[in-house]
Amino acid sequence: MAIITDRVNTDKVTDIAKAKREEHCIQDLTLFNGVRHVMRPAQRLENVRRRALQFREMVLSGGEANFLKTEDLVYAPYPTKFAYLHAVKSWVPYILLSNKMFIVQFNVGGSINSARTTKNLLFGINDPIGNGETPYFKSMRERGGWIAKNFVEPRLEKAAKQINQQLAINGLSPKDIDYISFDHLHVQDLRKWLGSDGSTGFFPNAKLLVMRQEWESTQGLLPIQQPWYCPDGAKGIDANKIILLDSSAMLGHGVALLQTPGHTEGNQSLVVHIDGQLFVASENGMSADSYAPLFSRIPGLQNYALKNNVEVILNGNTLENSIDQYISMVMEKTIAGPHLDYDGFCNFIPSSEHAPMWFSRSVNPTVQVSNLNYGMLMK
Ligand SMILES: [Zn+2]
Repeated sequence: MAIITDRVNTDKVTDIAKAKREEHCIQDLTLFNGVRHVMRPAQRLENVRRRALQFREMVLSGGEANFLKTEDLVYAPYPTKFAYLHAVKSWVPYILLSNKMFIVQFNVGGSINSARTTKNLLFGINDPIGNGETPYFKSMRERGGWIAKNFVEPRLEKAAKQINQQLAINGLSPKDIDYISFDHLHVQDLRKWLGSDGSTGFFPNAKLLVMRQEWESTQGLLPIQQPWYCPDGAKGIDANKIILLDSSAMLGHGVALLQTPGHTEGNQSLVVHIDGQLFVASENGMSADSYAPLFSRIPGLQNYALKNNVEVILNGNTLENSIDQYISMVMEKTIAGPHLDYDGFCNFIPSSEHAPMWFSRSVNPTVQVSNLNYGMLMK
């Protein structure tokens, strides 16, 4: 009986989510539905690769986003052994990651039945103070002692102010933001942005776009997931501020969020079509090298890829869904297509990118994706 009741409730919330998506002109994408529902992983991979190519052609033949800009917001230390799972050969214990914020503007509607409107999306914003409560990083900070207090934390606080500055530089204010989204909800304290328990958030008009699986994960984590999620980071947020996605979706002209499970169960990737190119972003891989190990100069990656016949190197701090992650990375690589400047590399933009640093120079990435700035923001 309990199962039947659950089913009814699930259908009801699914209907509400569908109505919200329709209100925002978000189109569910059916192209990838069911492609992973085969028993043989190799067959799953080829199904996804084929659909990824179709998706790439479909988006490239459609409209473009108005604007895409990325900014490095905050730097965080990260274990090298996680960044390039099993492949890296190095004694360097930590690398530095730069967390990127993506400012995206796109149009929706414009058909006979709907007026054309402009939407502003922030993808990958970071509240380093709130996020610092995430158990893994809190413990790292406590172990860091004097260095963390005097060197790391002031930088985090400085970064926290930059979102306002970056918006202002681009002529935007927090109230102009229609959507916020993340590739997944690790470390995120959403309360600052969306408000909680009746308080107004930093972005008063913004809705969170999130895969239902990722949202549900935050409501009932297993112990192996808990170190990476901010405790209570999603607590007390008004349900009207959340738009749940039940599948991959086109948000508007030239912008999509795709289900790319792996790094987390409800992981998603941002896809932006602009300037004749497709850019794909997530944290399934930590650098351009992760998607082109045969061309990488990071010690170990090329050998590992040759020896094991692998196409990509996983970001491996969480191994909840590593087969899915491998398939999702091939999907991302296929959709992104070749990089225009770097032979062998693809147009993937790591949302948390391994940043070259003097102290980790022996493992610095072969290619660093510089910040992007395409198109023009419409006011
Ligand atoms: Zn993560």
